[in-house]
Amino acid sequence: MAGTHALATRIAFIVALALAAAAFGVEAPAAAPRPLTIAGANAAEERVVDWAIRRFGDAGLRNLPPLEIYVHRSHDDCDGGLGLYFAGRVDLCTKDSSEPYQRKFALHEAAHAWVEANVPREILRTFMQRQQVVAWNDRSLPWKERGTEQAAEIITWGLDEGEIAPLLPEVPPTATLASLYEMLTGRSPHHPPAA
Ligand SMILES: [Zn+2]
Repeated sequence: MAGTHALATRIAFIVALALAAAAFGVEAPAAAPRPLTIAGANAAEERVVDWAIRRFGDAGLRNLPPLEIYVHRSHDDCDGGLGLYFAGRVDLCTKDSSEPYQRKFALHEAAHAWVEANVPREILRTFMQRQQVVAWNDRSLPWKERGTEQAAEIITWGLDEGEIAPLLPEVPPTATLASLYEMLTGRSPHHPPAA
């Protein structure tokens, strides 16, 4: 009967969340725990992922969709790279990276999910025109020339502490980066931009 008990507990939890949402109205999603699963991470890696996810809320970027995050020991699980995002799943292969880069890649992959769920197509079109990007996600193009990667890099820059320059074909001045971040998110960068 353990299964029945677990199901009852889960239903009770869902009802509690629904009541909380009703009680707090539109403010509730910011305070409610975000559905998130993390697999394969050690304690330090889990802290990095938690930090990155919290950073979205702290910066006022609400509605980060539910994510399944897998932390790997080998780069093979990320097609030889440091991270992947696809359809609600994040893979991170940053075990050999320094902590600022671990944070950066966790932000970057989650930023893909945030953009996918929150940025209207019209704004993405304007963003691509301004960046002179011809395709949103054409994998035959170099990584830096894809709209989706540029958007994730700019959001990452705005959420991070400003110490790692975004990977763009040319890194624009801080004021331009801030305006691109604002175009995508409707908000100012989280860190105080350097003068
Ligand atoms: Zn990416």
